[in-house]
Amino acid sequence: MTSRDSAVRICVLYPELLGTYGDGGNARVLSRRLAWRDIAAEVHTVGAGEAVPDSCDLYLVGGGEDGPQTQAARELQASGALHRAVDRGAVVFAVCAGMQILGSRFPDADGIDRPGLGLLDCVTMRVDRPRAVGELLTTDATVTGPGGSTVPLGPLTGFENHAGRTVAGSSAIALGRVEVGEGNGDGTEGVVTGRVIGTYLHGPALARNHRLADALLGLVVGADLLTPLDDADVEALRTERQAAARRDRVGSGHDSLHRRRRP
Ligand code: GLN
Repeated sequence: MTSRDSAVRICVLYPELLGTYGDGGNARVLSRRLAWRDIAAEVHTVGAGEAVPDSCDLYLVGGGEDGPQTQAARELQASGALHRAVDRGAVVFAVCAGMQILGSRFPDADGIDRPGLGLLDCVTMRVDRPRAVGELLTTDATVTGPGGSTVPLGPLTGFENHAGRTVAGSSAIALGRVEVGEGNGDGTEGVVTGRVIGTYLHGPALARNHRLADALLGLVVGADLLTPLDDADVEALRTERQAAARRDRVGSGHDSLHRRRRP
């Protein structure tokens, strides 16, 4: 194992605008998983109206309501810092509203299309369907790790709560395929463009999906530094949540999309 001289700098963006669904826990998961491996981490929390640093290694953008997400998009566009960070190779993990504003357009609170940041190749729109609310489970997912390796993540589990539906563009890949729930709305879940990863999974997502947490950290510190941890507790949680999601689907007598369409 090699070592790392500098602390991993994690930036949590606008938690008061994009923190409604507990996604701030993702920063805690990442910093704890680093600390357990004796790797230093600094968490920088940036509030609305504050300057966004462009020198962090990993940026976290959470979910939120339609109005606040429009404000967050405007501020990030004006700042330019997230674009500079991504150009430098920073990793971004964005959840729900966070993913939507990183795409090229998304609906505001009045359903009017707003320009997104263009860091993820996707568009989000309103559809004539009820909100997607409930457990979200994918089949086995993978992401591309350092050096182009394929990193297995297992099924991704979380909960979703969103009105918008997202379509990935030709240069993006989905994070996974939906087994239970709605995700993007077309059978896929999440959008990946380079080192920018978006998902509809709340939970917080990285507490329920430790391999995804380590995949993000691996992009920053390299997989060699990520010594194995005792993840028995999170594996037990994952098993329980996957069973609950499948039970809910089977118990409803409908497939996942029918379940969401019922008024
Ligand atoms: N406001 C967005 C929507 O409803 C995102 C919601 C969220 O972040 N959970 O589609």
